[in-house]
This record gives sequence, C-alpha cells and structure tokens, in this order.
Amino acid sequence: MKLPTQVKRYCPYCKMHTLQKVIQVKGGQRGTLTAGSRRKGWNLKHGYGSTPYPMFEHAKRLGIKQSKRYDLRYKCTKCNKMTTQSRGNKAKKVEIK
Ligand SMILES: [Zn+2]
Repeated sequence: MKLPTQVKRYCPYCKMHTLQKVIQVKGGQRGTLTAGSRRKGWNLKHGYGSTPYPMFEHAKRLGIKQSKRYDLRYKCTKCNKMTTQSRGNKAKKVEIK
C-alpha cells in the first residue's frame, strides 16, 4: 500500500484542517511480560498443543494472517505536534512516497 508524504487532516491542537506529515512508527519498546504471556509466547514460538508451528509460519501454512496492522503518526506542519490514528488499517506492506 502506497501512502502520500503529506495529507490534509484535522489537527486537534490547531482545531482545523492542516497539512500533516505522515510518519510510520516501527515497533515500540516492550514492557515486562507476565509469566502467563511469556509461557504463551514460548509455546507460539516453539509450537505446543494446538499450535504445531511457530505463529506466523502456522498462519502462512493456513493461508491467513499475512498482513499486519501498521502504526502511523501525523505531524502537524503548523504546530509541530504529533497525532495518532485511532486504529491502523491492515496491509501487507506500507510505503510512504
Ligand atoms: Zn496543529
């Protein structure tokens, strides 16, 4: 999916539509996981019980979950403040041109 570098969007700080730069964020810092989710992660990675393959490989074999939800931020050119999108769309690959 190709995206433009700038879009006209509503800025809640300026309270009007302004030109905003599109920035793609790649992964945040992960906090400490609980014991339960660590175990679940291990199982998904190594394959246990109902999931015989690692998560994405398992999904690939079944032909599902090939796309990810991407994280976009918009930076206002007027006030230089960042706004996030409420919920990202899903795409296999994202390109900002
Ligand atoms: Zn603004």
